[in-house]
Amino acid sequence: MIDQDVLVIGAGLAGMRAALAAAENGSSVAVITKVYPVRSHSNAAQGGINAALTDRGDKWEDHAYDTVKGSDYLGDQDAISVMCEEAGQEVINMEHYGTIFSRDDSGHLGVRAFGGQRQARTFFVADFTGQALLHVLHEQVLKHKVKVYEEWFVLSLVMEDGECCGVTAMDMRTGEIHTFRAKAVILASGGLGRVFEPSTNALICTGDGMAQAYRAGGSLMDMEMVQYHPTTLKSNGALMSEAARGEGGYLLNSEGERFMKKYAPNMMELASRDVVSRAEQTEINEGRGVNGCVFLDCRHLGEKVINERLVTIREAGIDFAGADMVYEPVPIRPGMHYIMGGIQTTVDGVTNVPGLYAAGETACVSVHGGNRLGANSLLDTLVFGKRSGLHAAEYSKKTTAKNIGDSSAKDEKVRIQALLDRTDGNEAFGKIRLEMGQTMNEHLAVYRDQQGMEKAREKIKELQGRYQNVIVQDKGKTFNTNLIFTLELGFMLDCAEAIVASALERKESRGAHTRKDMPKRDDENWLKHVVVTRTEGGPSISYKPVVITQWEPQERKY
Ligand SMILES: Cc1cc2nc3c(=O)[nH]c(=O)nc-3n(C[C@H](O)[C@H](O)[C@H](O)COP(=O)(O)OP(=O)(O)OC[C@H]3O[C@@H](n4cnc5c(N)ncnc54)[C@H](O)[C@@H]3O)c2cc1C
Repeated sequence: MIDQDVLVIGAGLAGMRAALAAAENGSSVAVITKVYPVRSHSNAAQGGINAALTDRGDKWEDHAYDTVKGSDYLGDQDAISVMCEEAGQEVINMEHYGTIFSRDDSGHLGVRAFGGQRQARTFFVADFTGQALLHVLHEQVLKHKVKVYEEWFVLSLVMEDGECCGVTAMDMRTGEIHTFRAKAVILASGGLGRVFEPSTNALICTGDGMAQAYRAGGSLMDMEMVQYHPTTLKSNGALMSEAARGEGGYLLNSEGERFMKKYAPNMMELASRDVVSRAEQTEINEGRGVNGCVFLDCRHLGEKVINERLVTIREAGIDFAGADMVYEPVPIRPGMHYIMGGIQTTVDGVTNVPGLYAAGETACVSVHGGNRLGANSLLDTLVFGKRSGLHAAEYSKKTTAKNIGDSSAKDEKVRIQALLDRTDGNEAFGKIRLEMGQTMNEHLAVYRDQQGMEKAREKIKELQGRYQNVIVQDKGKTFNTNLIFTLELGFMLDCAEAIVASALERKESRGAHTRKDMPKRDDENWLKHVVVTRTEGGPSISYKPVVITQWEPQERKY
């Protein structure tokens, strides 16, 4: 058995920020990650990170208001205030740790405009901000001698008397399964993008943490709120960063018209993401698209600006869609990008399961509510990663380690051996995964309705049944990716179940949850969070009131 004060699951920005904060607080800390740390999806973040710096004449209250409005008034305003107030210091911390942010002509940190915000407050490193931040945090984690279990796969939470006191995990190199004991466990295992197909997310974003918490009695909140990003590439759904529009890119329909003037006359292409994605989908549905797409036009920015600031997406356009943005508009469409919901936590990452914390995309504080503003997620991972790390470190000082044996690891060994031993049947994980992804993308995308979501619920149930007969062809121990993908699929099906149950519950349109059959926002009945927990009989729904401090809900226009 491996013993720690604080155990962090995930080495993305949230996990490494949490580990660093706990280590700085004197705790013994370990991180477990299924991929090498800098291969975490945070690495793919392009556009930037938001903060209102006072010496720029910006105010955190303005950032908070833009975030509240962006969330379609579903974000909790106390939590949003914490995030926006701490943002400036956190960006400066990351600069001092060594992040080489892009600068303006005067030598100050440069900012670019991002969607849904009245002021340019997005700090960035060209169009690879996540990679820059992630490498710097990895250096800090190494410097603080945090033990990192790389390419270890967490299977389940270890529970004793209703408390979380560790995890079971498989060393992917050997196939051995071990128990990790900890006084506090922080889930920082990222999003669930691949529950949808296609998605901008890496193939490893399979909602493992959310499903593990759900299985152990954790509450998931705002799960119906799935963000479709307005600019994903036609061919494979890869992301074309919002930075392209932040730098001045246009959106055009098949008639060459900047159609956003009809939908958001003030903010145009930089309205919030749900608004832009709906506008694009409406244009496409009404016949003003080309092959299911509209266009991102950056030609007027010129080659110099594109090479300096949008270099990776220029390459993505060339490689995956055969379109060079310097010379031609790039075909794009709305695509699954982010989950606003996740494991319900306080602003210190505390969940409803004692001993269990969550931070980053796997958590729901809720600062994003019905729609996340671009560049607020990197901020969320750092602010709430740090706060979770600090709180977990303090909690572990007051807690004595539970006397647990190795039975959890033994149970997992039996479960996995049974899966490997199964020989009859012909269900392959890949087919179920694709059917799940396509179902979610058909019925839980930009526009939804009762009938479609009910179809999705039935389909997910059918797939859960078929999953019980899935066959793992590879019976080996070393890097058995066939086994890992199969286990991930189990987590994804649980996440899909939670998303569909929550979406069917919300009988209005708000933020990313737009119902064709109930197109109006209904503050009287639905200014509340949908919370889902798991029971023997399936998902069970409850509600949590939205925290309103100083910004009363208003009609949302851009
Ligand atoms: C293409 C793209 C571009 C983006 N651009 C931006 C942007 O410019 N600005 C912005 O604010 N946001 C952006 N986002 C969103 C943002 O990047 C993510 O929400 C954020 O990085 C998530 O960080 P995280 O630390 O929560 O998780 P991740 O970075 O996804 O890390 C998850 C970690 O958990 C580990 N893990 C998961 N499951 C297991 C398991 N079972 N066992 C062991 N380890 C496990 C993984 O190995 C990994 O280390 C972007 C997202 C994408 C997909």
